[in-house]
Amino acid sequence: MERTLGLIKPDATAKMAHGPIMTAITEAGLKIVACKSMRLSAAEAAGFYAVHSERPFFGELVEYMTSGPIVAMVLEGDDAIQKWRDLMGPTDATKAGPETLRGRFGTSLQNNAVHGSDAPDTAAFEIGFLFAGRELEALSR
Ligand code: UDP
Ligand code: MG
Repeated sequence: MERTLGLIKPDATAKMAHGPIMTAITEAGLKIVACKSMRLSAAEAAGFYAVHSERPFFGELVEYMTSGPIVAMVLEGDDAIQKWRDLMGPTDATKAGPETLRGRFGTSLQNNAVHGSDAPDTAAFEIGFLFAGRELEALSR
């Protein structure tokens, strides 16, 4: 059993896509073991994406991620990290297939509707950044 961190980004919550996205997650066989909506501060968004702080798109990424509410989720299942990345599709939503969430709900390289951890160490960091231990208990029994 593996856990990963999923985000439904502000462009997707703005179009009320969080319902269909969570349905697709469940239908793909992943368990949503924690879930909450929030609005990130600039400092929180910068901390979450600290790995990208030297990249040219960092400032715009922080602006985008703070432009509206997000939904944060902890997803659990066999091979959950890769399964969720496959369901999301490639980073650039304009190159994502219609069977992927980025293809369905994203519109550009930046505005790509969803986030997913890319490895076990980043999943652990991202889950710990956004969730307290007690929040990981309720739905997971
Ligand atoms: N991003 C961007 N321009 C780029 C690359 C990425 O605006 O050239 C944004 C995009 O929203 C992406 C996020 O920064 O989802 C994190 O980038 P990463 O390379 O980690 O892609 P991901 O893991 O989300 O597919
Ligand atoms: Mg990434």
